[in-house]
Amino acid sequence: MARRKKIYEGKAKILYEGPEPGTLVQYFKDDATAFNAEKHDVIEGKGVLNNRLSEFFMTGLNAIGVPTHFIKRINMREQLIRQVEIIPLEVVVRNTAAGSMSKRLGIEEGTALPRPIVEFYFKDDALGDPLVTEEHIIAFGWATQQDLDDMVALALRVNDFLSGVMLAVGIKLVDFKIEIGRIWDGDFMRLVVADEISPDSCRLWDVKTGDHLDKDVFRRDLGSLTDAYTEVAKRLGVLPTNVTHPTKPTLIN
Ligand code: UDP
Repeated sequence: MARRKKIYEGKAKILYEGPEPGTLVQYFKDDATAFNAEKHDVIEGKGVLNNRLSEFFMTGLNAIGVPTHFIKRINMREQLIRQVEIIPLEVVVRNTAAGSMSKRLGIEEGTALPRPIVEFYFKDDALGDPLVTEEHIIAFGWATQQDLDDMVALALRVNDFLSGVMLAVGIKLVDFKIEIGRIWDGDFMRLVVADEISPDSCRLWDVKTGDHLDKDVFRRDLGSLTDAYTEVAKRLGVLPTNVTHPTKPTLIN
């Protein structure tokens, strides 16, 4: 196959030109990074799992009328997506205190929040993705008040969907991050969920044991990241075969 044009390479994914205008191919790498890429490792099979998991969540969102950039999965590591204009904000929804919120506000990890809290972080690696307010977002023109209202509504719908899907398989959705993009149809603009939804961008705790089934396993050295993600995929019924050693032959007894 002819080499495709690389559009962008991030920490965990690569975007290539798609087969048709307005489409891209999103490739999931095995790289894991944390603390603004200070910690880095290659975890065999992570990209395959995240490709499947993101497909599962995005397909479900599309099915309930929450628009996403996802079109279809192409193979083990790639999916076809709509090209969007990414809004330079990370949208975080929290149901339970953890991570940076616990640290910033001195709330013990695991404390249930009185209602889901939506936060915005400005996407800028050099600044370490700082927390910003709606005032900053509007003043600096990253999004309009209307966009913000739509983004909060979108994020809360994603939260309700993901919380329900995870709870059904014994997993608590503590918090998650999404990215949102604009798609233009002529003069008409709409916002869609973009990037990925996977255990890389969510906090997932086992309801019974409290075990972490997300990237905190890597951030906090809590064990095997592949085992944790495989557990999530297994419970959701989206486990691909030969995940941990996709290139090695399997002995069949
Ligand atoms: N998150 C993410 N990418 C980032 C920062 C955060 O996907 O660059 C996710 C993270 O996995 C968690 C949620 O957003 O599910 C909230 O993260 P938090 O602000 O607590 O930061 P952290 O403690 O992960 O640094």
